[in-house]
Amino acid sequence: MEVAFNSFKKDETFRDSVSTIAADGKRAWIFPKKPKGKLYNARTLVSYGFLVIFFAMPWIKISGHPFMLLNVIERKFVLFGVAFFPQDFFLFVLAVLTFVVFIALFTALFGRLWCGWACPQTVFMEMVFRKIEYWIEGDMMQQKALDKRSWDSYKAMRKISKHSIFFIIAFIISNTFLAYIIGIDEWKKIATDGVTAHMVGFMTILVFTGVFYGVYARFREQVCIVVCPYGRLQGVLLDPNSVIVGYDYKRGEPRGKISTAIENKTGDCIDCHQCVQVCPTGIDIRNGTQLECINCTACIDVCNSIMDKVNKPQGLIRYTSENAISKGIKFKITGRIIGYCIVLFVLFGTLITFLAIRSDIETTVLRTTGLLYQKTDEQHISNVFSIEMVNKTFNDVPVELRIIEPAGEVKWVGNGITSIKEQSVAQGLFFLILPKSEIIKTKTKVKFEIYSNGKKMAKAETSFLGPNN
Ligand code: SF4
Ligand code: SF4
Repeated sequence: MEVAFNSFKKDETFRDSVSTIAADGKRAWIFPKKPKGKLYNARTLVSYGFLVIFFAMPWIKISGHPFMLLNVIERKFVLFGVAFFPQDFFLFVLAVLTFVVFIALFTALFGRLWCGWACPQTVFMEMVFRKIEYWIEGDMMQQKALDKRSWDSYKAMRKISKHSIFFIIAFIISNTFLAYIIGIDEWKKIATDGVTAHMVGFMTILVFTGVFYGVYARFREQVCIVVCPYGRLQGVLLDPNSVIVGYDYKRGEPRGKISTAIENKTGDCIDCHQCVQVCPTGIDIRNGTQLECINCTACIDVCNSIMDKVNKPQGLIRYTSENAISKGIKFKITGRIIGYCIVLFVLFGTLITFLAIRSDIETTVLRTTGLLYQKTDEQHISNVFSIEMVNKTFNDVPVELRIIEPAGEVKWVGNGITSIKEQSVAQGLFFLILPKSEIIKTKTKVKFEIYSNGKKMAKAETSFLGPNN
């Protein structure tokens, strides 16, 4: 990234190239050393928690209905047991805006904590696929040796085993992903009815499997470096007070081999390159904050173990901020943080208010276009209206449309809407007949209320067209 946080580093040429692209433009494959340490253990536990949540969520139901459903195909969404429809799109926009501001605030305070600890890409890559790779192919040196080795039964066995397991896990992820979209009941049908009965569903699973397999077997850290928009925004989201995985250059420099430390008065960094070897994106954190750093903390763990060995205090690489390293300022609430907090508070408050007043039955009444008013008799005028009612609940709901203001009469075209099926939309047409005495101008405001079993569920407003008296 462009923000030069690391003030000791004068040579910025490392920013001219990407660690995973070789000089000839080909992919430079990363063989990260297996991480060990307290933070890695903690991250493993947290990741397992997230994995349990990810795989369990589609199976959770509340009163027989999904807890989480992201059906983009039929545009039905259930979040934490509450159903949302396209009519709630403004809530979605508001939620996204709130989330974006929250991310900006969180990143300004804690840097890329999300990337290292909670991002599904990191969780699956580092805690599932990478662990399997270490288990089958060994640590960094064994992996490099295996890569150089010419093809024989030993290499083939390992590669086939690894990629078969990768494919199976990608298949499981793909099925879970599909269950989020179509719901667990529909997914069960695909899984049990046989391939030919659900060809589209089966092909979708295969495509998802191919994508997940490709990402975790080949594309890997490129997702974070090349694709992820959040990673690319770090340059504007971070500031010198943000907490990042940082190298304490004041303590570490000038770096030098331990054998030369006394004569040359070098800093605490013994230039062992262990922090570079464990890095899953192949960078040297001693160069300063970089776009590629996903804050996985592997370099913190390994450097702490090195410091233990050379009898120096831990924390040469640690969670810190540039200002903490360069000026000793531990934490500072900046104007930017206060600004983010205010905007977040307003957005969050608005979102909660709209969620609280959101009705289960949403109604839209529109005067039929192209039609003027009709005289039903000498004393009455009528307009034709179309009505759309959305039942956002998981139950069939009986409904009754009442005209509240002005006094008038509703006459349905056909049978009218008397009940709405669960999670569905009902549409109808009706005449609204008003006494001439109620019409004093061309457009008269009319108010409706929708009742279910005597309880007010929603209201709607529209205008009635009449002669200008
Ligand atoms: S692991 Fe620590 S001591 Fe070794 S090179 Fe990295 S920063 Fe220096
Ligand atoms: S620099 Fe450290 S924290 Fe950043 S990705 Fe590499 S190992 Fe992880």
